[in-house]
Amino acid sequence: MSKRLVWIPEEIEKLKSEGFYNKIRTLSSPQGAWLVVDGKRVLNFCSNNYLGLANHPKLVSAAKKAIDDFGVGPGAVRSIAGTMDLHLELEKRLATFKGVEACISFQSGFMANLATIPCLVGKGDAIISDELNHASIIDGSRLSGATILRYNHTDAKHLESQIKTNQDKFRRMLVITDGVFSMDGDMAPLDNIYEITNKYDVMLMVDDAHGEGVVGKGGRGIVDHFNLHGKVDVEVGTMSKAFGVMGGMVAGKSIIIEWLRQRGRPFLFSSAATPADVAACLAAVDVLEQSTELVDKLWQNGNYFKSEMKKLGFDTGLSQTPITPVMLGDAILAREFSRELYEEGVFAMALGFPTVPLGKARIRVMISATHSKEDLDLSLQAFAKVGKKLGVIA
Ligand SMILES: *Cc1c(COP(=O)(O)O)cnc(C)c1O
Repeated sequence: MSKRLVWIPEEIEKLKSEGFYNKIRTLSSPQGAWLVVDGKRVLNFCSNNYLGLANHPKLVSAAKKAIDDFGVGPGAVRSIAGTMDLHLELEKRLATFKGVEACISFQSGFMANLATIPCLVGKGDAIISDELNHASIIDGSRLSGATILRYNHTDAKHLESQIKTNQDKFRRMLVITDGVFSMDGDMAPLDNIYEITNKYDVMLMVDDAHGEGVVGKGGRGIVDHFNLHGKVDVEVGTMSKAFGVMGGMVAGKSIIIEWLRQRGRPFLFSSAATPADVAACLAAVDVLEQSTELVDKLWQNGNYFKSEMKKLGFDTGLSQTPITPVMLGDAILAREFSRELYEEGVFAMALGFPTVPLGKARIRVMISATHSKEDLDLSLQAFAKVGKKLGVIA
């Protein structure tokens, strides 16, 4: 290896010795309740496919039809080559679904954050960010050049003191929080946060990636859940999780959406989502608008799984959503637990430091509407067996 590249294998060795090396499993089946993982058929508790839409027949046929009608690629960025009516239709439908004035779609949720945050704040401004916000919020914030201040996780009082002590040092302020936090399945106290941002007249943005299609009436998101329609300035979401496809969105006041169309760099300098993706997202909106059945089933499954796990003696942490952390504490124990579960035919991720705080390692169980009661019972049996074997429960 050339001398200028030897640092890379050295860094990779370091990752391995510290236990941070990512070994990525190979899937050879569509996303669903069951998966073929590294050649073995297992129950799936790892994906964000909350509603089973990733392999839903309506979405699949909509995507195929869009390929026949519009081809496979968008050709260029929307502001240069022109935007397909399909993309505009999706944005209109999303705005109606979410009960906002307007919506703009992006290639992913990550892109939505990279586009939005630098449009709202820059040098001389401050972002006040929940300490556990998602990586894409952190990256979007850095990209903006604004000063980044943190507040303690979901702590509205600390947020208020951060605003109060810093407000006159900056031109503008933007408060950003995840809606649903994916590591604990807990939710931002958006009602309290809104009261504070409104009191001090600072901008409020929520990234509802794990809440979109999950919380609120029929999956309309966290703003709907707290009945804050028209109050939260910017709602970022993703169509890559519960929507089952790929894409990001920003919903809110039309003046903000218009500003993003003029100034959002991933909108202006990266090509649009493909016709197949957009058509599948439109079909996802159809499914969600037609019935709350899938969202209801997701919550039923989550509540059942959590209450049975508690009966077994497991600690499911702070979860307020179908995301269920199984708190184990020690990272080595969590990895061992995940390996044993896999042997029992259950695919669930172990999360340790630095993804979660030191001493707070866990198995994260991603419940989906596609799981049957039998699936959940099978997994509960596996958890009980492994939990006893490893001395986590009596
Ligand atoms: C997953 C996630 C994203 C990224 O969404 P993609 O559509 O997968 O790019 C952004 N923000 C939060 C909070 C997320 O959980």
